[in-house]
Amino acid sequence: MAQAPQTGGPVAPAILADLAAASRVLAAQDVVDGFGHVSMRLPSAPDRYLMARSIAPALVTPDDIIEYDLDSNPRNADGRSSFLERFIHGEIYKARPDIRSVVHSHSPSVIPFGLVGVPMQAMFHNAAFIAAGVPVFDIREKFGATDMLVGNGVKGVALAEIMGKKDVVLMRAHGSVACGRTLQAAVFRAVYTEVNARIQHWTVALGRGAPMASLDDEEGRLADVPNQTAGMRAWDLWRSQVRSAVNW
Ligand SMILES: [Zn+2]
Repeated sequence: MAQAPQTGGPVAPAILADLAAASRVLAAQDVVDGFGHVSMRLPSAPDRYLMARSIAPALVTPDDIIEYDLDSNPRNADGRSSFLERFIHGEIYKARPDIRSVVHSHSPSVIPFGLVGVPMQAMFHNAAFIAAGVPVFDIREKFGATDMLVGNGVKGVALAEIMGKKDVVLMRAHGSVACGRTLQAAVFRAVYTEVNARIQHWTVALGRGAPMASLDDEEGRLADVPNQTAGMRAWDLWRSQVRSAVNW
């Protein structure tokens, strides 16, 4: 059998710049801090994905981007170190051919929903994708006491199984993952998962336990359609803010 090529081929500089910018956008939007990462499937080779070397998201430049195969082996690391939790990305890409971008974060407002068994609900139209339901991955169920990190392929598979056909999954006492069919969609969902969580906390406090009139399934499906294009407006704003700061 022919050996897999070392890399999926040259990547357009604009793609590397957009992926590096996405890291900085997520940091600017308080989705990631010193930790967290965003990846995208390589457009020319769907069995490969791109992600930054192990570095704080707000510091990522295009030169930091490494190509991985779907087993999350780096193909062009050249001495650069990899994120321990890259298996989140590789195993979701294997399980979900429709997904082209993945964001993993520890955004703080989301974490309580993985701790207390209260499901996230879609509080407003920008977070319509939440209405489909947000499963919770509890690493303890399959692996017992761990360091909580998805640090190998087996744990990545278990996470992708719990996520199933949804686009967002919470990780108990750890964080969350948001996915999309484009880099821009995944960033949009990661940002609005965090914003939605904040609004749900306010709503619960305001309503003191009253039922919440959140988006139902059908409203979620309908409202997610315009989000695909409206999301680009947000991306254009966020992307321009990065460009004005770093000139790429
Ligand atoms: Zn993590």
